[in-house]
Amino acid sequence: MVKSLHDAVVIGGGPAGSSFALELAKRGFEVAVFEEHPEVGIPSHCAGHLSIRSLRNLGLHPLPESIVENVFSVANFHSPLGSKFSVHLAKPVTCAVNRAKFDKLLAEKAEAAGAVFHLNSRVQSLMLQNGAVKGITVRENELDENQVPANLVVDAEGISSRLLRQTGLQGLNGKRLVYAVQAEVDGIRDVEDDAVEVYLGKKYAPGFYGWLIPKRNGSAKVGLATQKGNPKEFLDRLIGKHPVASKQLRSAKVKSMTFHTITLGGPIPKVYSDGFLAIGDCASQVKPTTGGGVVFSVTCARIAAETAANSLEQANFSESYLRTYQKELTKAVGFDAGVMLKARKVLDTLSDEKIERAISFAQRAGLGKVLHDVDEIDFQGRLLFSLARKPAAFSTIAYLAVLYFFS
Ligand SMILES: Cc1cc2nc3c(=O)[nH]c(=O)nc-3n(C[C@H](O)[C@H](O)[C@H](O)COP(=O)(O)OP(=O)(O)OC[C@H]3O[C@@H](n4cnc5c(N)ncnc54)[C@H](O)[C@@H]3O)c2cc1C
Repeated sequence: MVKSLHDAVVIGGGPAGSSFALELAKRGFEVAVFEEHPEVGIPSHCAGHLSIRSLRNLGLHPLPESIVENVFSVANFHSPLGSKFSVHLAKPVTCAVNRAKFDKLLAEKAEAAGAVFHLNSRVQSLMLQNGAVKGITVRENELDENQVPANLVVDAEGISSRLLRQTGLQGLNGKRLVYAVQAEVDGIRDVEDDAVEVYLGKKYAPGFYGWLIPKRNGSAKVGLATQKGNPKEFLDRLIGKHPVASKQLRSAKVKSMTFHTITLGGPIPKVYSDGFLAIGDCASQVKPTTGGGVVFSVTCARIAAETAANSLEQANFSESYLRTYQKELTKAVGFDAGVMLKARKVLDTLSDEKIERAISFAQRAGLGKVLHDVDEIDFQGRLLFSLARKPAAFSTIAYLAVLYFFS
């Protein structure tokens, strides 16, 4: 069946898709979101660790109490041999959210603004005409296959990026994907309530890091990602053998476990084509340092919605018109994404021995005190440059550079 023409259709009801739908619907356009699962936000794979300042900037703070699992003002970084570098911040700077509830909140806001959600609706393919995207083909309730024509198709399908590749755009950088595992556990010990634990080193998480994010009730999200090997085997090693994590998790019970991929390659080079915009994970709008993609996705989705609204007003859906989205993206996140990608490349080269030395040096140099007043963790390019003016931070960055280039 061929459905009526939509202003815009969105593929995927994650943070990127719902945020785009919200912004476009608020401007009075007709937008439909197609989500393959029967419920928004489920299954959830994410740690939900978000910057409070960024949430505030996006107008999403304070979040309802039922969504926030905890807030944090401490971060403990552990070397593979158990050395520790701690940052104690002046106030809570991050929070952990229940991602399923967070995603539902965004979807509800979009619906309240007039967006229509179609659940159980898997987009099978893009409708293409002479290279221009003209709509989608969608299978609803595992039965009917319908064609949905649209002036604009917005791809927010997440990491799979299967549909994006149909347009001929360059997809995610396969060499910079890491494979994550996350467990929900009960019964953690020796963990400060307001501290996030980060476990560095190739022995436990080659190409990324491990994390423990406590909730307020003795349970936690524990996970890691790796560039190679089986993430579950690395998690077993972290829980069983890491000098710090093994103590914190010695009597923990694993309640559930999920596996998912994280993209660390930085934004893909081109995010638009005729009638088409890409947002979120499928466009690799993720911090290459930490893998955090929620704030970046929502930020980029808003920029895309601005371009989409102008394009609908002008009835111009051409690639040359939609290029504005890319230009605005570059202004908003290009610098930070570039710096973070370079930082990720440096981090990837550090051996466990160098990590050990860097952590000890950061602790001795008093880097923790310099970081005391930091409340920005998303736009790390700007953060790095502002910190570099402070002696302890400068010397730590310089020390890292020495480790990277010379030793
Ligand atoms: C283990 C792990 C931990 C993470 N921790 C953090 C963190 O602490 N903080 C942070 O900021 N980020 C974190 N991230 C990254 C974050 O989860 C993503 O960057 C974010 O979810 C991207 O949002 P999105 O809307 O682009 O994609 P998604 O959230 O993946 O949403 C995509 C949606 O599209 C739907 N979909 C896919 N294909 C189709 C189709 N063909 N038809 C219809 N629907 C479809 C999917 O079902 C899904 O609902 C983590 C990721 C992982 C894997």
